[in-house]
Amino acid sequence: MIDVKEKKAEMPAVASSVFESLSSSLHEQVVFCNDPETGLKAIIAIHNTVLGPSLGGTRMWSYASEAEALNDVLRLSRGMTYKAAISGLNLGGGKAVIIGDSRKDKTEALFRKFGRFVNNLNGKYITAEDVGTSTRDMEYVAMETRHVTGLPESMGGGGDPSPVTAYGVYMGMKASAKFAWGNDALHGKKVMVQGDGHVGENLVKHLTEEGAQVFISDINAEQLNHVSATYGAAVVAPELVFDLEMDIYAPCALGATLNTENINRLRCQIVAGAANNQLADEVLHSKMLKDRGIIYAPDFVINAGGLINVYSEKIGYNRQRALNQTEGIYNVTLDIHRKAQSEGIYTQVAAMAMAEKRISDISKVKSTY
Ligand code: NAD
Repeated sequence: MIDVKEKKAEMPAVASSVFESLSSSLHEQVVFCNDPETGLKAIIAIHNTVLGPSLGGTRMWSYASEAEALNDVLRLSRGMTYKAAISGLNLGGGKAVIIGDSRKDKTEALFRKFGRFVNNLNGKYITAEDVGTSTRDMEYVAMETRHVTGLPESMGGGGDPSPVTAYGVYMGMKASAKFAWGNDALHGKKVMVQGDGHVGENLVKHLTEEGAQVFISDINAEQLNHVSATYGAAVVAPELVFDLEMDIYAPCALGATLNTENINRLRCQIVAGAANNQLADEVLHSKMLKDRGIIYAPDFVINAGGLINVYSEKIGYNRQRALNQTEGIYNVTLDIHRKAQSEGIYTQVAAMAMAEKRISDISKVKSTY
């Protein structure tokens, strides 16, 4: 039996810490979805909807604790606000997490129940696939709500967004080259693509077509061999990536690959890749890169092609239009580098300021009917 006194004593502590987190991160709404029948435990976080409905994928992960799941969804949804704003999309930032093991706990009922929770938000949150979820799972979600993107092409969706993401990274890389060297040609440049999965492989394709000297590294030997054989890229052992003399380092594996130890070893002039949250510590490592004269293209700016692609689904999918819009990443990246240089600030800070300015400007537009 639950001791009422003990229960009452617990409640305010939990509530106050959650609201404290929400207040400091400026989240609009957080929804806890609980359904014992299907085993669904999910959290949907809506960070900001000034620009439009919040959009962000659903991550399924075996979180060590509920607090860890909450932190993750708060952090990721806030990131989506910035990514949508800097990309000129009429979208806000949101994200969802499902607590569970994506290899064992997936069922049709679980995803359909989750779809019902999404539907109850009446379009204020639009979901998509993310780490641990797939287009197949989104098909189940779509049985219960229309507020879902990232659907297969057979259902009118955009299919795999990775080629569009890779194209945006390529554009951001070229803009960074233009800023660094006065010319955006990558022909002959040494580029290290770390992580050669969905996005990395497509990036290697663009780089090879332009005549760059491409190096690749991946912990998945089969994928590595496939990319090497297809594009003739030189393979580098994972532990040697940061000792390679290169012009551009493109992190396309997991996040936080740049840390205090390896930034000191890094021998390149530009960092431009697809991975989310590349810097283990945004402030410290922005400073370290700048001090070493390395130009950093903020990840959330140049990897926005995937978001642009799913946004395109909401307005009637057309891959060419998504690619055209993704091409805009070139000019945005160049503007960020120039702003950072003229104001003496880090590129990450410049990009966030530009995103915040757009949100603030549009909030004034919306102040009257
Ligand atoms: P993916 O899983 O297809 O590819 C990642 C690759 O990295 C895999 O081949 C994996 O073996 C490799 N890898 C993992 N750890 C590694 C390590 N330590 N060293 C070298 N290789 C390693 O994922 P993806 O869809 O290509 O996404 C790549 C990154 O880009 C992720 O960080 C993802 O969050 C980000 N991203 C992807 C998209 C998209 O459209 N897919 C959009 C925005 C951001």
